[in-house]
Amino acid sequence: MMKCIVDKLRKQHRLSSDEYRVLLTMRNPQDVDYLMTQAREVAQQQFGRGIFLRGLVELTNVCRNDCLYCGIRRSNAHVARYTLTREQVLACCELGYEIGFRTFVLQGGEWGEERSRWIADLISEIRSRWSDCAITLSLGEHPRETYALWKDAGADRYLLRHETHNERLYSLLHPKGLTIGHRLQCLDWLKELGYQVGTGIMVGSPFQSLKTIVEDIQYLVDFQPHMIGIGPFIPQHDTPFARFPAGSIDLTTRLYAILRLALPQALIPSTTAMATLAPDGRLRGILAGANVVMPNLSPTDTRKQYALYDNKAAFGAESAQGIDEFKAELATIGYHIDWSRGDHEAKKKAE
Ligand code: SAH
Repeated sequence: MMKCIVDKLRKQHRLSSDEYRVLLTMRNPQDVDYLMTQAREVAQQQFGRGIFLRGLVELTNVCRNDCLYCGIRRSNAHVARYTLTREQVLACCELGYEIGFRTFVLQGGEWGEERSRWIADLISEIRSRWSDCAITLSLGEHPRETYALWKDAGADRYLLRHETHNERLYSLLHPKGLTIGHRLQCLDWLKELGYQVGTGIMVGSPFQSLKTIVEDIQYLVDFQPHMIGIGPFIPQHDTPFARFPAGSIDLTTRLYAILRLALPQALIPSTTAMATLAPDGRLRGILAGANVVMPNLSPTDTRKQYALYDNKAAFGAESAQGIDEFKAELATIGYHIDWSRGDHEAKKKAE
């Protein structure tokens, strides 16, 4: 019965909400194992046993927003705010390029539009210095013109998680004025402008339910993002959600597997939040069908200040400096690093 549903998802890439519900709640370890095995097989058909790397540069923790879950929200007065200089960002890319990274992700808090030009110039500079690299942005919500400006400057990809498709839940997680409607509008603009687009959710955020997760899966299947960013919620002690429990690795891996079967070609990172919750978190994500990791390339002294949540993994195998350690970890499960740019066009590999 469970196996039929998994097989159906693998073949048809879409299920009814009741069927998703069954996959999300099934308890028999053999059934769960079957789901994971199928997801892994599909990932290997698409990408072999190679894992793509993205070098994460945490541009700034200055943010105009006040998302209730996030440690760098505007009203957290305990954060020492920083913004990397242009030279610092370029030095991060230089270091990353030498290590072998071919994608740089500029992530940060949300700024007002008065600084969009500065970001565009930075993008142009990275584009001209490292023309063989992909540039990904993860800088929140902006007007269409700003997204267009950055695209013209040379950006290729944009990550903007929808966080939850449910209107009510969205309003419980975000300050007044932020709406799911506008978030989805931004995602549509990004796609229209020709970005490879990533979206996704936190798993186990306060007030989330099975029902809202099913809605999220259905939105992802409809939207067909190129990338899917999903990680467990982890509380940060200076936020209103400080006392809520962290999300579960098991449920997160289950979502990776379901989404791998639903969107075989998607790029799915095994996220930093997975590495934060368990030493083998990222490997477990990969064994559930994830095929990307995003090591930290930020200057070591600012990493602690980019504390979206408590104990965020940023050193060890999670960092650019820990690539050898990560390689060794991957080898224990028979995987390796794929040093190519790793664009969305899936390649069939016979390995
Ligand atoms: N400001 C940008 C990018 C930085 S936040 C934006 O909002 O898109 C990147 C992602 O980190 C968010 O989309 C969110 O899903 C995740 N995040 C934030 N706080 C978190 C927390 N407490 N636990 C887990 N993930 C969190």
